[in-house]
Amino acid sequence: MSNDISSQDLANLIFENGDVYSKAELAEFAKEAVKRLYFDFRDYGENISQVKCTKELIEKMKEHKDYYRFDKNIDTISIPYAEAKRTLNTDIGTLVEVKLSIMFYDNSSNNEEVVSEDDRYWNDSWYIYLKPDVSKNDCTCAKCGANMKFDEAKDMLECDYCGNKVINAVMNKWRFIDIKVEK
Ligand SMILES: [Zn+2]
Repeated sequence: MSNDISSQDLANLIFENGDVYSKAELAEFAKEAVKRLYFDFRDYGENISQVKCTKELIEKMKEHKDYYRFDKNIDTISIPYAEAKRTLNTDIGTLVEVKLSIMFYDNSSNNEEVVSEDDRYWNDSWYIYLKPDVSKNDCTCAKCGANMKFDEAKDMLECDYCGNKVINAVMNKWRFIDIKVEK
């Protein structure tokens, strides 16, 4: 696929012609990316490097930690359901909405049965809004801010300046624009 495809074209490929990017692949990507995003953000704050987000979303997550359950002692999360629902035409281009059902488990790691006074869990729906981000070469390094180069053979982004590497470049085909939570 060439790099000059528009985000509208990419959204159409997903929703009308799933042989290039399928809705199922997008749902699988979303599951993996949201898991990484959750723990990376909780543990490293704005220095998240695996998942691309807008600055606005990072600020929103910092301001509303309870909303995203970053304030809990979460041991693990599971995402039993994810579905690419629809595309949205917005001022900043075409976004794809993906709905996920997320289970958060608090204080369960020391118990095999996961039933004690301290155990708690929550089931939220997260609606994530993703922008197709197909220009691989303009990705900015989360550690130093320099431009990263995409190595096609390794399927990996590399920063010439500080050496930061981002494996699994599928993470870089999408940028997280917003996340809405339904509790
Ligand atoms: Zn760098």
